[in-house]
Amino acid sequence: MRDPRHDILFEPVKIGPVTAPNRFYQVPHCNGGGYREPSAIAEMRRVKAEGGWGVVFTEQADVHPSSDITPYIELRNWNDDDLPLLAAVADAIHEHGALAGIELVHAGVNSPNLYTKEVPLAPSPLPILTFTSDPVQARAMDKEDIRNLRLWHRQAFRRAKAAGYDLICLYAAHGFGIIQHFLSPRTNQRSDEYGGSLANRARLMREIIGDAKDEVGDRCAITIRLALDEMAGPQGLDNAQIRELVAMHAELPDLWDFAHGSWEQCSGTSRFKPEAAQEDLIRGLKQLTPKPVVGVGRFTSPDLMARQIRQGILDFVGAARPSIADPFLPRKIAEGRSDDIRECIGCNICITGDMTSSISRCTQNSTFMEEWRKGWHPERMRERGSDDKVLVIGAGPAGLSAAHRLGQRGYQVALAEATGELGGRVSKESRLPGLAEWARVRDYRIGQIQKMPNVEVYRDSRLTASDVLEFGFARVAVATGAVWRRDGVARYNLLPPPIDPAIPLFTPDDLMEGAEPKGHVVVYDDDHYYMASVLAELLIKRGNRVSFVTPSVKVSEWSSNTLDQGFIQARLLEAGVTLRLSRGLRAIVAGGVELACTYTGKLEELACDAIVAVTARLPVDGLILELKERAADWSAAGIKSVRAVGDAEAPAAIAWATYAGHRYAEELDDPRPEGSLPFRREPVAAVERWPMARTGA
Ligand code: ADP
Ligand code: SF4
Repeated sequence: MRDPRHDILFEPVKIGPVTAPNRFYQVPHCNGGGYREPSAIAEMRRVKAEGGWGVVFTEQADVHPSSDITPYIELRNWNDDDLPLLAAVADAIHEHGALAGIELVHAGVNSPNLYTKEVPLAPSPLPILTFTSDPVQARAMDKEDIRNLRLWHRQAFRRAKAAGYDLICLYAAHGFGIIQHFLSPRTNQRSDEYGGSLANRARLMREIIGDAKDEVGDRCAITIRLALDEMAGPQGLDNAQIRELVAMHAELPDLWDFAHGSWEQCSGTSRFKPEAAQEDLIRGLKQLTPKPVVGVGRFTSPDLMARQIRQGILDFVGAARPSIADPFLPRKIAEGRSDDIRECIGCNICITGDMTSSISRCTQNSTFMEEWRKGWHPERMRERGSDDKVLVIGAGPAGLSAAHRLGQRGYQVALAEATGELGGRVSKESRLPGLAEWARVRDYRIGQIQKMPNVEVYRDSRLTASDVLEFGFARVAVATGAVWRRDGVARYNLLPPPIDPAIPLFTPDDLMEGAEPKGHVVVYDDDHYYMASVLAELLIKRGNRVSFVTPSVKVSEWSSNTLDQGFIQARLLEAGVTLRLSRGLRAIVAGGVELACTYTGKLEELACDAIVAVTARLPVDGLILELKERAADWSAAGIKSVRAVGDAEAPAAIAWATYAGHRYAEELDDPRPEGSLPFRREPVAAVERWPMARTGA
């Protein structure tokens, strides 16, 4: 039974000429698939509609070849060739009664046009503003360019309507769309009627929205996704100007969709941005317009969502990441099953797919972007393929995922954990500064397993190979995890450097288990993700002096892909951590560390009292290796297979472990022939000149 306090979330809401069936609004989001994976993205969006989202959007779709954001992979709406893909996505969304939305954009000063080789266009002649600082500048648009831009938009609107979309959103947030570039005094330095005053800077927005209404407004709602604040003070587009803008154009679009001015600010990790982080910037905007308002805030709590609506802050609960982590979030609330929500942990692993031009993954929802490729569904699983009993050893993210999903398939499962606490690394890491939400990985899975009579959990059960052979489970998954190395080996040192044992050396495991290095501590980071920075924060909070040393040119370099590298480096600097960048660890000597400049090789010594080495990890593979050595005994013990799963096979980020556990469960008793590809690929539809000569190879 649904909680009546949540009824408000299920009211239909009119948006221009269309009506959304409820207030759950999946805002546009990237997925690393885009134009390269048409069926994968169509199926991913279909599943969201099935899960109850009343409005489901595509990712950004560029309106013209002069808007090409290669290497990032989104959608294109350049000409009629794009229609079949766009229509397939809209059709998939419509299958479950949701409204289909498409986000159209000309990326302006954000488009280096590396693929199309067109000259970039922007309000003013500025360097291209991307993540990669491409050596390309945009040409300032003249009046003919603006006329053309409007024409390209009109053509794109017609195609969007023909493809079946109900909502057309103009992207003017995150710094990515030309409407924002015209609105912002930083990127619009024009002196004609399109520059200067806010009314002038908004002229292009008015014209394009007017054109859209004229072209397709009879059937499609026209919405705008608008930056809330560029966080550049009044020099940029600030929140005060946005309020003025909305008041000036209160009736212009059919809906206002607000998101932060930069993507990093909007989609911050949970370490830096809590749920509903944008509430202060949004509050009051709805009162400036009669049109519905959407906002985001990594909402996973139905009470909070309902409060935002009741208090008149929002009309729609906008969500990207919460809809990725749990495509069935609305349905679960509707059915009074809020406890079953698989809450987003705010890790931004999903975003790394976009940033690395690879198909996305999600820490919490391993089925994300595998709905078509692998036929995985976030809620349903194939029935078990046999009556084999399964032993899962280790209750970290991999073991918990495997046990949960095997249980869902109907297998009899025993989950054995060496310690008294479930969760493995996520339990330990969630106690570090800023990582509390990591615990949701554990809590969701434990919550599900507890409801399954066919999954039994054994705590304080450190198993040996002899135990396993004695128990006689047919299937054994070894998810025993990994430990941080203490020999300095990672990327800079592929072989161990000299280590003088006179100086205390700690690993992240030691600190998570309660060790407290004292004095001047060197945190050496050759891991390049979040761990070293989190430990530096912990140590400085405990009153130590901290030097952060890394062979990289910046702190937590890989975190650029999770959009929080800048926040991390700022936090360490503000906390008084001394940064020693581009320095590799040559040796640990009696009084400290010997470092080498990664460019010149110049040596230097840094005196310290203790070292925390955040380097590589080693799989805890003793058990699996021993079991494999004793393979001859398996059949007598009734064992059919033994597999390492997750970090025990190869250490990686948490998302890899949950995926490995899920995959183990999906593929147990897989009827497909051995050797078949592990996923479906989208074949290239037309190859101009078939390379006949190669077919015999
Ligand atoms: P992953 O990320 O692959 O899930 P973790 O390191 O988070 O790995 O979790 C591994 C879990 O396995 C830990 O909770 C650890 O206590 C447990 N474990 C390790 N060895 C054994 C063993 N021999 N028997 C049972 N549990 C084990
Ligand atoms: Fe949330 Fe992380 Fe999943 Fe992204 S990858 S949706 S941030 S849990």
